[in-house]
Amino acid sequence: MSDKYKRDFLWETLTWKEIEARLKLVDTAILPCGAIEQHGPHLPVDVDYFDAVYMAEKVAERCADPKPFVLPPIPFGVSYHHSAFKGTLSVTNNALAAFVYDIGMSLAHNGIKKIVIINGHGDNKPTLSFAAQMINRDAKIFVCVDTGESSDVDLYSLIETPNDIHAGELETSTTLAVRPDLVNMDLAVDETLDLNNEYLDFTSERGVNWYVHTQRISESGVMGNAKKATIEKGRKMWEISIEKMVEFVESIKNTPLEKLYQNRY
Ligand SMILES: [Zn+2]
Repeated sequence: MSDKYKRDFLWETLTWKEIEARLKLVDTAILPCGAIEQHGPHLPVDVDYFDAVYMAEKVAERCADPKPFVLPPIPFGVSYHHSAFKGTLSVTNNALAAFVYDIGMSLAHNGIKKIVIINGHGDNKPTLSFAAQMINRDAKIFVCVDTGESSDVDLYSLIETPNDIHAGELETSTTLAVRPDLVNMDLAVDETLDLNNEYLDFTSERGVNWYVHTQRISESGVMGNAKKATIEKGRKMWEISIEKMVEFVESIKNTPLEKLYQNRY
């Protein structure tokens, strides 16, 4: 049998016996969650999905042995706000939360004690946090969601565009860095949002959470400036975000739950 597809951290490529043996060595699993939604005229619809999977696999590769498990990803997310643009496939908040909850409970049943959800799509965040909270409530294991928090502060210092939140300077750069053939820079546009309100600005430290249908604030679907994207910026962004996530996963991977909870759990 060919080992071409088999990797010892990819859950779905192992046998149940192999998983049973590995669960004695490592209690941490990474669950990538994405979205299939419009990303402007110049990027494919799978950016959030691909990025979450790419990140999860790179992180596992770079972690020390025993590496955390990487689970099969969830491709679809909460994208109703992009539904005016073709190509967008959305599931409801309830469906996603229920699905993630079920997977989490099933992982806990297998013996997984720590779940790191790597979320590639900002608008999945409240739904995934809700699911994480319910898994923690019922299975009493550690569950966390990273939607870029572990490295956003570094990434935003690399770009010039304010409110660059969707298919703009950041996401176009990260896609250029790993899949340049899928980026059409001739169609890249600048639709920098000027919200002129510190509390509504998406990248402001004082920004409140609010929701809007994309077509109300962007014609092309881009929110940011895709024209400023470069391969170099994208490479740096990947390097930093992978490094920070490896650091984080290593910090929890071999820490017993009781210690993570400071013996108060
Ligand atoms: Zn995106």
